[in-house]
Order: sequence, then C-alpha cells, then structure tokens
Amino acid sequence: MKEQLFLEHLFSKMVKWRRFLHMHPEVSFGEKKTAAFIEAQLREMGYEVTSGMGGHGVMAVLKARQPGKTVVLRADMDALPIQDEKSCEYKSTVPGVMHACGHDGHMSILLAAASFFKQFEESVHGEIRFLFQPAEETCPGGALGMIEAGAINGADVIYGLHLWTPIQLGKAASSPGPVMAAADEFYIDIIGRGGHGGIPHVTADAVVAASALVMQLQTIVSRSVDPLQPAVVTVGTIAGGSAQNVIAERCRITGTVRTFDEETRQLIRTRLESVTRATAQAYGTKAEIDYILGYPAVVNDEKEADRFFRSAPHVFGAEQVMLSPKMMPAEDFAYYLREIPGCFMFVGAGNADKNAVYPHHHPRFDFDEDAMLYGLKLMIEMVRSYQNEHVQNVSGE
Ligand SMILES: [Zn+2]
Ligand SMILES: [Zn+2]
Repeated sequence: MKEQLFLEHLFSKMVKWRRFLHMHPEVSFGEKKTAAFIEAQLREMGYEVTSGMGGHGVMAVLKARQPGKTVVLRADMDALPIQDEKSCEYKSTVPGVMHACGHDGHMSILLAAASFFKQFEESVHGEIRFLFQPAEETCPGGALGMIEAGAINGADVIYGLHLWTPIQLGKAASSPGPVMAAADEFYIDIIGRGGHGGIPHVTADAVVAASALVMQLQTIVSRSVDPLQPAVVTVGTIAGGSAQNVIAERCRITGTVRTFDEETRQLIRTRLESVTRATAQAYGTKAEIDYILGYPAVVNDEKEADRFFRSAPHVFGAEQVMLSPKMMPAEDFAYYLREIPGCFMFVGAGNADKNAVYPHHHPRFDFDEDAMLYGLKLMIEMVRSYQNEHVQNVSGE
C-alpha cells in the first residue's frame, strides 16, 4: 500500500482507538485496562511487547535490518479525576474520570506510528522504541519509572508531543531550550503560642507571622531573581485559627514555585527557606518547611528543536509553524530530556466548529481528532529526518 493511502487507513483507526480509550479512562498509576488495550493492538501489529514498566508502562521495539541509531517516541496514558460533562457518543463511561488532557489522542498517534513503521520497515534504519508511559498527571510521575526500567537505555534521541487546544488545528509550535516550567511545592507551618484574643502580649501570634510571611515571599521574585529569568512564587492557601477571639497557635501556608532554569529554581528554594525562618523568628514563632521538588523544566535540545523547525513545515506548511512561548504548566517528559537529547512539540488541536475550545483539564475538554493525523505525520517526519541525517553521516565518514 502507498504511504498516503496507509495514512488515511490509519486515521480511521486512530479515531476508533481514541474513542475507545476516551470512553474507558483510568487515572494515574491505574492504567491497567489501558495498558492491556495498547498491548493487544501492538501484538496484532506483530510487535513483541514489554509491559509493567514503571507501573503500567508498555514498550514496543522495532529493530530494522539496516543498522542505525535508536529513536524513542513517547506517549502518556493517564486520565484525570474529572467528571466528563461533554455530551457526545464517546463520552467517558467511568464516573468521575475523564481524558481531559488529550492523552487518549497521544496513545492513538503512537499506536499509528508503530503501525506505520512496521508497514514500511524497509525504510527504517536502526531502532525505534514506542513508549507508552503511565502517570504523567501526578508527581512524581511515570517517566522516572520508565527510565529505571531501562526504556531509554542506549537510546540516542527522544520525541514527544502534546495535542494542544489553545493552538488552532493545522498549526504546531515548539522552542529550543526551556519550554515548560519546573513545578515545585511548599508547605509551611508557622507555630506560635496561642492564647486569649484580648491578651496578645503573652502569646506568639501565628496568624500575624504568617501574614507577614506571605508579603515577604512576594519579594523573592521581585528582589532576588534575575529579572530576565521567568519565575513565579504563588501562595495558594493560608489557614489558621479557630475563633475570632482566640490567638492562633498554628497557621499553614501552601504554594507553588515555577521556574525554567535550575539555578533560579535552587535560588528560590534557598531564599524561601531563609525568608521563612527569619520572618518566623522575628515574630517569636517557629517554622516547619516541607519543600517538594516536582517535575524539572522541559528543556529541548537546540539541534532537535531545529529539526522540528525544518520538519514541521512539511506537515503544516511554513506559515503554520510557530516558536512556542514558555509555558508555566509542567510535564514529566522533562526527565527523559535530562538523560538524552530530544524535543517536545505542541500540535494544534483547537477548533470552534467542533467544540474543541475548552482548556486542558476542563470538564468539557475535547480536541479536533484531525489533529491526530498531523501529530502522526510530525512524528514520522522527525524520525525520518533524524535517521536520514545519521545515514548520511555514516556514508560520509
Ligand atoms: Zn494534563
Ligand atoms: Zn497532558
């Protein structure tokens, strides 16, 4: 079968796979049936499959007869604890669980890529690994488990994509360097000495100390971080006290920190801890700090991002390929990119005509399924570009 014809055939399969997965979503680290479905499709294509990687992760490997490098393609598998509020024939059948981020589409694209390269195996050099990774939506996510299970051992490059409804169908975006933020969490307990609301001088007021701390934390980004480095320190909650006439013994502050480079990330942590300790002390209280490092930033390799800007125009047209702005959401694809070079790409999936207008994680989230064909073609272009370059290098040496 000619490639074009086969792609059309794959598109109808992708829609079927995607709708099945959309109707049967599973949350992070619970992707048991999802993994079984993926595995069954891959076996039907003629793949040997490794399963149970880092939880319910699944991997298929294509080893071509012609020698070459190893390219890894990755999709994420998990849904979210959200009630599906769409009304359509493929809406979630699981109460309170929904594919509200498009990972059902990512799996379908990767299945189609596995099918495509199997069909045109003669054109492949070296090895292609298809990684279905569990638990992207939780921290620590499934990427670390896949890496520990050896999924990228000896691999040369990795590509991943996200269907993205804020970008219109038919467009794509990526960027060299940091493209999605590192996301860390902090939990601070201020511990004072409670007492009568009318007799403050014998207490140490945790609410007053915490209030001062909330304001002090605002100075970390404005006074300590290089103004050319994007960063966010957000206090999300503050809670303390039990009655209007009682001075609180404890007050709890929680928040999130978003950064793009490792130095700024460490600087904010250090500043947050010292500002917290000093402020607590100034008010005669103590602070207990729990600082949790979440996903690191997604940092694209310069050369591989450049490959995206050379390859994507073949799929989308030159005018439709954009430089992505930095984004504050996090993504555990970051862990792979700390080990091997690669590129994370955004494929436009928004379309008002098909009601694909809601943001990711919204109860009415949906994407234009046509985006899956663009995603598949982009994956194919990236793999071929990498392999062609390498084959040429070998023969030129
Ligand atoms: Zn998500
Ligand atoms: Zn996602």
